[in-house]
Amino acid sequence: MSRMPAEQIFKGQIASPGLALGPIDLHTLVLAKPGAAGTPERERRALQEAIEAARARLIGLAEKGDAMAGDILALQIALLEDPELTAPAIKAIEGGTSAAGAWCEALDAQIEIYRSDDSEYFRARAADLMDLRDRVVGLICGEGQGSKMKAPDAIYVARDLAPSRFLETDWNRYRGAALMGGSASSHVAILARARGVPLLIGVGGAEEALRDGAEAILDAEGGRLIVNPAASTVARYRARLARRREEAEREAAFLDGPAVTAGGARIQVCINVDDLKVLDRVNPDHCDGIGLARTEFLFYGNNSLPDEDRQYDTYSLLIDWAGGKPVIIRTLDAGGDKPIPDLTPEAEINPFLGLRGLRLSLARPEVFRVQLRALARAAVRGPLKVMFPMVTVPAEMDEARALFEGEVADLAKAGIEARTPPLGMMVEVPAAALNVAHFKADFFSIGSNDLVQYVTATSRDNAAVAALHDALNPAVIELIGRVADHGARTGCEVSLCGDMAAEPASLARLLDAGLRAVSVAPAALARTKAAIARNPASGDGADDG
Ligand code: PEP
Ligand code: MG
Repeated sequence: MSRMPAEQIFKGQIASPGLALGPIDLHTLVLAKPGAAGTPERERRALQEAIEAARARLIGLAEKGDAMAGDILALQIALLEDPELTAPAIKAIEGGTSAAGAWCEALDAQIEIYRSDDSEYFRARAADLMDLRDRVVGLICGEGQGSKMKAPDAIYVARDLAPSRFLETDWNRYRGAALMGGSASSHVAILARARGVPLLIGVGGAEEALRDGAEAILDAEGGRLIVNPAASTVARYRARLARRREEAEREAAFLDGPAVTAGGARIQVCINVDDLKVLDRVNPDHCDGIGLARTEFLFYGNNSLPDEDRQYDTYSLLIDWAGGKPVIIRTLDAGGDKPIPDLTPEAEINPFLGLRGLRLSLARPEVFRVQLRALARAAVRGPLKVMFPMVTVPAEMDEARALFEGEVADLAKAGIEARTPPLGMMVEVPAAALNVAHFKADFFSIGSNDLVQYVTATSRDNAAVAALHDALNPAVIELIGRVADHGARTGCEVSLCGDMAAEPASLARLLDAGLRAVSVAPAALARTKAAIARNPASGDGADDG
C-alpha cells in the first residue's frame, strides 16, 4: 500500500491576502532543449522568428488590456526590440550554439544582472526578462503559449510570474498563486492586490516538494503554503474557508446601502484605485467615490510618463466612472517602493527617506506641470480633488498650490478650459501630523501605511520587523487622533486611505478617534461596510453627515 506523502509547510510573504485550497498547477520554466544545433543560418532564423512571434503576441495582449497592462507590456516589447538584448545570442549562434541555448544564455546573463541590482525596481524586472526567455524558447521548441491548466480552481505555483503572464491568465479559474521568488512591490503583487487574487511570494525551499497536481493550501492570511496537507489540516482549512465564504456573503449584503454605524454615524467609504481594470468590477453605487487614485501605478512599467492628453483621458475615466461622486486623484508618489525609470533617483541609500512623492515632483517641475495641467483640465469634468503625497512642511504645499494655479492661468490664457480643484494633502509624515494646523490644505487624507513605518521606524515591506510595524501602536493612534481633532475643530475634511481602514479592529480605533471617512481597496469594500455596521460609534459627532 503506498503511503501518503507527508505534509510540508513553507513560509512565504503575503503579497495579497486570502485563503485557497486546491491542486497545484505547477508552471515550470520552459528549459532549453539541449538538442544539436542546426547551421548558424537556420538557428538565427529560428531565433528571429520566435522573437517576432513573441513580440506579436505581446502587442496583441497590450491591445486587449487596459492602460496599466499596456504600459507593463510596452516595457517587454521594447526589450524584445532592443538589439543589445539579442546581440549576445546571435554571437553565440555564430559560434555553434543552438537558438534556444543561445537565447537562454543571453537572457540568463541579463536576468542575473537585474536580480543583483541594488534597486528594487530592477530586481522586480527580472521576472519580465524570465518571461521573455521562456516565451521565446517555448516558441523555438514548438511549445504552445499560455498555461496548461490541469484542474479547475487550482493554485498557480511558479518560480516567478511576469505581469504579462498575470494579465493573460484567467484568474477566475485559479484560487490563488504562490511564487518561489517575487518581491512585494513587483507589478504582480500590485496587480494581485488590485484584483483580489490571494498571492504568496518568496516561498522558500519549496521547489523540491512541489508536484504538479499535489493538493496544497495557500494560506495568504498566515503566510504559509502547505503541500500535501494532512486530512485534519484540510478539514481545519475547509472549515475556515466555509466561514470566510459565509462572512463574505453576509458582508456583501452591506454593499447596497450607505455605511452607517450601529450608533447611527454615517461613514464615508470610498475606494482606492491602483488599476483601472478593477473599476469594471465595482458598482459606483456601492461606495462614496474614489478616495485615492494612485497615479504612479497607472504609469508603472512605462519607460516615460504619459503625455498630458493621455493623463487627461485617464483622469476623465475615473471622474466619469464615479458619476458625480468625489474623486481624489493623488499626484505622482514615485520613489520609495515605487520607482519609475528615468524619474526617481538611482541608488538612494534610503529611498523611503529620500526624494519621493511631492518632494520629487517639486524637484522635477517639467514632469509635475504636465500632470497638473491634465488634472486642471479634468477638474472641469466633475468633482475632482487633487492630493499631494509625502508633504512634510507647509512650504511644499504652498509651492504645489502656486504651481497648480500657475498652470490654470496659463491654460486660461491659451483658451483651454481648466480650474483649480480643492487641493489637499496626505498626512503620512509624522512632522505633518504633528503640525497639521499649519498647512493650507483644503482636505487631509491620512496615509497610515507610511505613517506607521515612519512613526515606528519599521519598513513597510520587511517581514523581519513586521511585529513592530503595528498600526495600533499608541503613538500612531495618537497622531491620527490629533489630525481627526483638527478636522473636527476646523471643519476641514479628514479621511484615511491607508490599509488599516480595511482591518475591522483598526477601523474601530479610527472611528473612536473621530474619523468619519475612509478609503479602502475595492476588495475590502463589503468587509469595511459590514464592520462599520457593527460599530457602536454614535451619530451625534460633529462630522456625521
Ligand atoms: C499610505 O501611505 O497609507 C498610502 C495610502 O499611500 P501609499 O500606500 O501609496 O504609500
Ligand atoms: Mg504613502
